[in-house]
Amino acid sequence: MTATCYENEHVKAFGWAARDTSGVLSPFKFSRRETGEKDVQLKVLYCGVCHSDLHQIKNEWGFTTYPIVPGHEIVGVVTEVGSKVENFKVGDKVGVGCLVGSCRNCEYCANDLENYCPQNVETYNASGTITYGGYSDIMVADEHFVVQWPENLPMEAAPLLCAGITTYSPLRYYGLDKPGMHIGVVGLGGLGHMAVKFAKAFGTKVTVISTSASKKEEAIQRLGADSFLISPDPQQMQAAMNTFDGIIDTVSAVHPLLPLLGLLKINGKLVMLGAPEKPLDLPVYPLLLGRKLVAGSCIGGMKETQEMLDFSSEHNITPDVEIIPMDYVNTALERLVKADVKYRFVLDIAKTLNSQ
Ligand code: NAP
Ligand code: ZN
Repeated sequence: MTATCYENEHVKAFGWAARDTSGVLSPFKFSRRETGEKDVQLKVLYCGVCHSDLHQIKNEWGFTTYPIVPGHEIVGVVTEVGSKVENFKVGDKVGVGCLVGSCRNCEYCANDLENYCPQNVETYNASGTITYGGYSDIMVADEHFVVQWPENLPMEAAPLLCAGITTYSPLRYYGLDKPGMHIGVVGLGGLGHMAVKFAKAFGTKVTVISTSASKKEEAIQRLGADSFLISPDPQQMQAAMNTFDGIIDTVSAVHPLLPLLGLLKINGKLVMLGAPEKPLDLPVYPLLLGRKLVAGSCIGGMKETQEMLDFSSEHNITPDVEIIPMDYVNTALERLVKADVKYRFVLDIAKTLNSQ
């Protein structure tokens, strides 16, 4: 990859950053690069608050460089385009998700899987270069990593750019999108509630598997889940053994896999999406005896992200969001730790990020 310094030049930017492992965010002045030939500059309007933001501001994954400006569910309006930009013009509504770069040469990039490119560049806290995310007033990115925002989607549906694609992609890739299949969704947070919506749109039967009994009624009545299991209740879990074709696990903390493997039918697939800070125990016997698969998946490529947005637009799929002002972000993060959000916080950057 040609070495690009992602953020080190002359355009003044303003956002909120964490400076240390306390993870407390506060106002931060920095610079972004000038809009290059292939770059799009946007004014950020909304940015979702992902649990990955929380893991990283507290350095739970061990590779955070401070100061860190989080945010990878970014929706905005194009304010400037470089001379060689082909697909965007000033005024377009656009999104930037978890990636702002990749090598564009490897077999993964060649197959629209930039998310698996070993040299990809994350929107913030990238390794090997400095990038700052969407808790900020402006963003600059190569047009390849910018998506068109469908006209009929509200701009505050920004969580589609991470929570949406991260659940859409594995449901498709692992073939868990066939009408009539029984799909489990573990953890009803930002990712989990999107998994429910996509799995329902694909025509599957969806069961939420949750630690929060308080989410049951809403999961069924509002999100359209067909049933709900309380995971700490062994009787409920026992009664549902061997009934799932696939399970999407979005839990952000260490938790036991054995009960989930028990829920799967023979040949069932457990897809791990959550990224707890410590390894999980993997019981092997249930895999052997049931030819079961435990797999993972990481966001999605740019082409599939656009496809997911277009699918969402066609099927009126949007995240359930709580819109918050910038200065509420630290409280929001505390609430996220306690799984106290239905189901994604979205920062109203344009109205509430005040650089004065
Ligand atoms: P979130 O909104 O906080 O949702 C996580 C849910 O997990 C909670 O709402 C809760 O659901 C459940 N949960 C939390 N602690 C638990 C515990 N100790 N035991 C059992 N269940 C627990 O988080 P998110 O933004 O959806 O992200 C979820 C995870 O996915 C994070 O680790 C994040 O870093 C990761 N992630 C991965 C990718 C990827 O590409 N693979 C992309 C984005 C995020 P209930 O109340 O229903 O139990
Ligand atoms: Zn995310």
